[in-house]
Amino acid sequence: MNVQIKPNDLAAFWMPFTANKQFKANPRLFVGAKDMHYITNDGRRVLDGTSGLWCVNAGHCRPKIAEAIKAQVDTLDFAGTFQMGHTRAFEAATRLVDLAPEGFNQVFFTNSGSESVETALKMAIAYHRAKGNASKVRLIGRERGYHGVNFGGMSVGGIGPNRKMFGALVAGVDHMRNTHDIARNAFSRGEPEHGAELADDLERLVALHDASTIAAVIVEPVACSAGVLIPPKGYLKRLEAIARKHDILLIADEVITGFGRLGTSFGSDYFGISPDIITTAKGVTNGTVPMGAVFVKSHVHDAFMNGPDWMIDFFHGYTYSGHPVACAAAIGTLDTYAEEGLLTRAAELAPYWEERVHALKGLPHIIDIRNIGLIGAVEFNPDPAQPGKRAYERFVKAFEAGLLVRQTGDIIALSPPLVISKSEIDQLFDIFTKVLKADY
Ligand code: PMP
Repeated sequence: MNVQIKPNDLAAFWMPFTANKQFKANPRLFVGAKDMHYITNDGRRVLDGTSGLWCVNAGHCRPKIAEAIKAQVDTLDFAGTFQMGHTRAFEAATRLVDLAPEGFNQVFFTNSGSESVETALKMAIAYHRAKGNASKVRLIGRERGYHGVNFGGMSVGGIGPNRKMFGALVAGVDHMRNTHDIARNAFSRGEPEHGAELADDLERLVALHDASTIAAVIVEPVACSAGVLIPPKGYLKRLEAIARKHDILLIADEVITGFGRLGTSFGSDYFGISPDIITTAKGVTNGTVPMGAVFVKSHVHDAFMNGPDWMIDFFHGYTYSGHPVACAAAIGTLDTYAEEGLLTRAAELAPYWEERVHALKGLPHIIDIRNIGLIGAVEFNPDPAQPGKRAYERFVKAFEAGLLVRQTGDIIALSPPLVISKSEIDQLFDIFTKVLKADY
């Protein structure tokens, strides 16, 4: 198969998070996918080492999910969920709640991770207001956190390049320090030993602003988009305890760690924490149809139900909240995860995965390797003249050699679909090792 693209079509699509000029000079294009592989427009098979963008957890073009979507489009293509409902949304919500950690009994639907984050931040502020604590409005994020691209998520997020073009951002936001510390934790397997005390940064911000002004703290259990920053042992539990002590809601942004990436349904299960709100997207529909789901504990939900009359529940939502096709996709996805035991599969594969990831040690320019669940990352010593260049070049070479990886700065992340076999793990690392051996 050789599918050509017209130069004008390349011009018409302004691509997100892409150096458009550079990409369009030498585009990398897919035309198909099946299970662990993409097919390029020139007919090559590329092993998907990143589950698309961390979302295709069950592998590509899975029949049960595709059938659920097709059947839904023919039956009920759209119905809103403002003042009206449709059965699929309630069914999908129930299925999700059944999977959620203890105490999460409601789901609010969105269309993406960014929307899930905005929803959670607004919910946190309105929750305190419903309880009569209208001064609790400040939001705390963390340096190098990624919480999507909308104003709230960008503001609590801590990635400089994502913020610096966009002005003053949302007021009343502070950031804890990030937990990445190569000097103390290089080449850690799983959770690094050092750094739990960094959770005390929340106490520092409480001392600065007073707990009576702080609504919520949001963190990713594993900060994946900034390059797989794995929390030090005990860090998340310590953060949870501080948040609880000060009546600050803990929001776990599980857009990536939700749905099996760590070998548990949610990252919160993996780390033994019990947040107040969990944001998800991506894996909820195996990446097939855009959808996000915000899980809330009963006390959060009930504060709205029992709030002052003027609040009229939660004045927030999207035209496509609980879209029937997305709900059908979610149900098909959850069926597939359950039938194939995919939500715990990363735990089975993790020891083998860990050995193969860490066997990359010693290849040129590598200054750190880390792993958790079915995630791995390799960090390169930055070329001072051109930061990010080493990882970018290796990402391009890997693609040419038949492997899709994800590059961010001087880091390459790996996160294959959870259906990967041991021999496919071997293939992945055989290709990647060859790419990393060449010193360019
Ligand atoms: N939060 C986290 C933790 C994410 O990893 C992402 C996406 N990588 C988002 C939010 C934003 O999701 P989306 O791109 O679907 O808006």
